[in-house]
Amino acid sequence: MARLFQLLLTAGILVVFATAVPKTCSKRCYPGNDCFPSLTEIAMFQQLIDGYVVLPSNNTYKDVTYMHNKLFTRFPAIVVMVLSTDDIKQSMLFARKYNLHVVVKSSGHDYIGRSSWSGSIQINLGYMRKMKVMLSSSRSVDGELTVESGANWQEIYQEVDKYNRVVVGGSSQTVSPSGYTLGGGHSILSRMLGLAVDQVLEMTVITVNGSIIKCTNHTSYINNPDGSFSVTSDTSLFWALRGGGGGTFGIVASFTFKLHKVKRQYVKVTMTYPLSINGNSSVGQEVMQFYSNFVKGMPNEWGGYSFLSNAQHVTKTNDSVIGTLGFLYCHYGGWNDSSRKYMDLWNDFHPEWRLEYSVRNISTFWEGFGSVMTDSPWSRVYVTGSFIQEAGLDTSLKDFIVETMTRPINDTNPMYACVGTHLGGRVTDFSDTPVHPGFRHARLCLGCVVAIPDITREDFYIQKGKELSQRLISYGNGTYVNEAAEYMSNWQQNYWGPHYSRLLSIKREVDPDNILTCHHCVGSEL
Ligand SMILES: Cc1cc2nc3c(=O)[nH]c(=O)nc-3n(C[C@H](O)[C@H](O)[C@H](O)COP(=O)(O)OP(=O)(O)OC[C@H]3O[C@@H](n4cnc5c(N)ncnc54)[C@H](O)[C@@H]3O)c2cc1C
Repeated sequence: MARLFQLLLTAGILVVFATAVPKTCSKRCYPGNDCFPSLTEIAMFQQLIDGYVVLPSNNTYKDVTYMHNKLFTRFPAIVVMVLSTDDIKQSMLFARKYNLHVVVKSSGHDYIGRSSWSGSIQINLGYMRKMKVMLSSSRSVDGELTVESGANWQEIYQEVDKYNRVVVGGSSQTVSPSGYTLGGGHSILSRMLGLAVDQVLEMTVITVNGSIIKCTNHTSYINNPDGSFSVTSDTSLFWALRGGGGGTFGIVASFTFKLHKVKRQYVKVTMTYPLSINGNSSVGQEVMQFYSNFVKGMPNEWGGYSFLSNAQHVTKTNDSVIGTLGFLYCHYGGWNDSSRKYMDLWNDFHPEWRLEYSVRNISTFWEGFGSVMTDSPWSRVYVTGSFIQEAGLDTSLKDFIVETMTRPINDTNPMYACVGTHLGGRVTDFSDTPVHPGFRHARLCLGCVVAIPDITREDFYIQKGKELSQRLISYGNGTYVNEAAEYMSNWQQNYWGPHYSRLLSIKREVDPDNILTCHHCVGSEL
C-alpha cells in the first residue's frame, strides 16, 4: 500500500516529465500519449511483482538510471527493478499490454547508451546478482558457474576464486556479464580460453511474449506464457544471443559459464614506453614497430592489454614526453623458458626509454587481477574502435597512432586514449557464433575514446571522435558492437558481417513487433 501511495504521489511529476520526452518512435506509446498507463495502472502492476517500480520522482531514480558514459544520459519513464524471472515476465507482459518501448539494463556500461531510452520502460536487472558454482558438471570438466545478469565481474571473480577457478570475463569491476557476453566478451584470458561467448553453456531468457526459455546448444526448454511446457531442438536463439548483441532478442535472466582451473603460477607484467621524447617522435616509430612484431609473435599463454594516450609527462630526468604506450600482460599457463624469453624481448628493448617496468609472480588470478582491477570513473566520452588484423599491423596504422598520440592536448586537439585487447590464440579456435569474423581473427581489439571535458564544446569533440572512428575502421575488419561509435554507417556489416541476415531473421521470429529495441541493435532499422 505504501508503494501504491508513493506511486500516486508522483502523478504531477510524470505529467510534467511527459512533455519533455521525445516521441522518437511513433509505433510505441510514450508518456503524454493517451495509451500510456495511468499511475493507478502502474500501481496495479507493482502489486504483481516482487521487485520495485521506480518513477522519476523517486529518490532512487537517479541511482538506478545512471549510465557510465554521461554522453548518453537518458530518462526512462518507468524503471522496473526486477528480482526474478517471473518479475521479468510480468514486466514484459505489462509493456506489451500498453505497447511501451522496452529497454534492458544490467549495469549501464554500454558506451552508446543502449540500455536506456527516454520515455521507455526500463527492465533493470541490477538487483539480480545471485550466483552458484557447481564443480561437478557433465558439460565442463572444471565445473560451471550460473550467475544472474545483474552481478558484476568483480563479484564473480571473487566467488569463483574460492573454488580455485577462473572464468572468462571483463576488465572492469562493475561491468555485468550480460551486455558484455551478448556482444562477444573479450578478456585478458581470451588468448588461452576464447571469448566469453565460447564459455556459455546455458542461458535463461524471457522473450517478448512472456515465455521463459532455458537455451542450450542442443535444446530449448520453454515455459509458455499459458503455463504449458514445450521442448525444441531449435537452437537459433542460443546462437543469436552469443554475439548478436544485448537488448534485442530477449532478456537474459542468467548465464551458465564454463569454469577453468587456476593454473599454478601467473606472471603479471606492466610497462610503459614514451612515443615522443622532447619532440622526437622517431622514438614512437621504433616503439610501435617493435610492438607490432611482438604482438604478431605472442604465444597463446600470454594475454593482456596495451594502452595508448596522448597525455603529457615530465620524466625524472626532466625530459618532456607526449604520448605513451603501456602494457598489462598476464601469463596464464605452465611457466617455462620460452614464456620468459618472450617477455625478455621487452626487457632488452631500450630500457633507457622505459618509464615504468614491473614483472611479478602472483599466485591466483584474483590476487593479480580480480581484486586490483580499477574501474574507470563515470565519464563523458566519444567511443570508437576496430578489429585490427595481423595485416593491419603492417600498414600506416602505426604512423597514424604515433601522429595522433604525440599531439599535445589543447583547445584544438582533444585527449585521446585507447585500449588494445590482445586477441588471437584460442579465440580463433571456436566458431558457430555470430560474432564478426574479424573478431575471431583479430590480433587486437582496439577501442579508443575522445574525452569530452567541456560540454559547451561537445560538437567539436564528437567531430574529432567521428574522424578518429573513420580512420580506425579503415585499418581494421569489423567493429566490436560493445565498443563502437554512435555514428556509424553500415553498422550491421561492421558489427556482424555475413551473420547479419540470419540474426535479423531470428529477431523477426522472436520479436516480430520489435518491442525490444536499442540503438544499432539487430532489427533497430525496421
Ligand atoms: C569500464 C569498461 C570496461 C570494459 N571492459 C570490457 C572488457 O574487458 N571486455 C569487453 O568485451 N567489453 C568491455 N567493455 C564493454 C562492455 O562489454 C559493454 O559496455 C557492455 O555493453 C556492458 O554490458 P552491461 O550489461 O554491463 O551494460 P548495460 O549498459 O546494462 O547493457 C549493455 C547492452 O546489453 C543489453 N542488456 C543488458 N542486460 C541484458 C540482459 N540481461 N538481457 C538482454 N540484454 C541485456 C542492454 O540493453 C544494452 O543493449 C567495457 C566497458 C566499460 C565501460
